[in-house]
Amino acid sequence: MIVTAMRAYRVRVQPTDPIRTGRGPVPARADLLVELVTDDDRSGWGNGSDSESGIAALAGAAPHVLGRDPSRIDPRVLWTTLREALPIGPLSAVDTALWDLRGQALGQSVAGLLGAESGHVRPQVRAYATGLFRHERWTDAEHARELVLEAEGYAAAGYTAMKLKTGFGLDADTRHTAAIRRAIGPDIALYVDSNAAYTPQQSIALGEAIAAYDVGWMEEPTGPLDWPGYHQVRAALANLSAPIPVAGGEQLGAASDFTAGCDAAAWDVVQPDVVSAGGITGMWRLGRLVRGKDMAFVPHCFHTGIALAATLHLLSAQPLNPPGRGPAFAYEPLLEYDRTEHPTRQDLVRPLISQHSGFVPVPAAPGLGITVQRDILARYTTAETVATL
Ligand SMILES: [Mg+2]
Repeated sequence: MIVTAMRAYRVRVQPTDPIRTGRGPVPARADLLVELVTDDDRSGWGNGSDSESGIAALAGAAPHVLGRDPSRIDPRVLWTTLREALPIGPLSAVDTALWDLRGQALGQSVAGLLGAESGHVRPQVRAYATGLFRHERWTDAEHARELVLEAEGYAAAGYTAMKLKTGFGLDADTRHTAAIRRAIGPDIALYVDSNAAYTPQQSIALGEAIAAYDVGWMEEPTGPLDWPGYHQVRAALANLSAPIPVAGGEQLGAASDFTAGCDAAAWDVVQPDVVSAGGITGMWRLGRLVRGKDMAFVPHCFHTGIALAATLHLLSAQPLNPPGRGPAFAYEPLLEYDRTEHPTRQDLVRPLISQHSGFVPVPAAPGLGITVQRDILARYTTAETVATL
């Protein structure tokens, strides 16, 4: 088996029911997908973050991938070479595609390959529901009312954890958090995420206001690289009568930024994304870094079904997080399970990746265990390239 072609696709979906975070409207969902095709008609898939230049930058990977036998490529070894040949977003897609092909070539799931090193292969991963956004069409009163209904829906569906979007003002955030906690009862974990809409001082005030509602973590309490700000919030929230862990890192990509954040003691929970932090190999390395700093590794996951599958395999094989003062459910791996409207997550891959009793099963077939639906891919592709042997 050799790799004979590298195809790349930019996909973009405009939501029909737009949502917003505390920082503003959630933009169209855009991704870079890489397909590595072999001479025996297999395809390995990876999802990278989208950018204007990403698809062209993939040319840097072609000489290192085309003509190679995927069963003989260890993506962990090739990663260092690829890191010098292309930016981290496109690299993330190529690395994940190589893992998918390697698993297919060796007849093992990606989780099985990774688990050989960690000693863990979980058939399912605990998930928290990411939803509870503000829909653009809502009034303030509808926002407050609909959030509670949505939270009750997650509880009824069996989720044991969920995340609320804050960043809409101290008063609204506090009322929403209180109302959801009342609605879901004491046994379901509740996280809040301000999407860097606040200053450290505003986030500390929010922490003080919502500490009574058993908040599992506060995510992005300030700008993504504001280490003094993160440190200040983390110290203040640790001193509350009911301490709130601090989470962040979803906007970072370079390993050096994660190292700087760890060294600055910015976080309790670190949230890199497989599409922007170097694919499965980059994430595996970051997991080791983060746990070594006594922090919890809880990946961000908000992209296509390919990224969701990759994150599931990664989490299936992760070692335990340090018990420290992390949130209750982040000792075992925890999946961010995006519940927003997103056709390139829901419809792009099969089998359907779904939640049961708070857990999401890991696709069991070799590689990532998914097939890409060509009609859905074609519907949302806005640009396409191919490099061949
Ligand atoms: Mg977030």
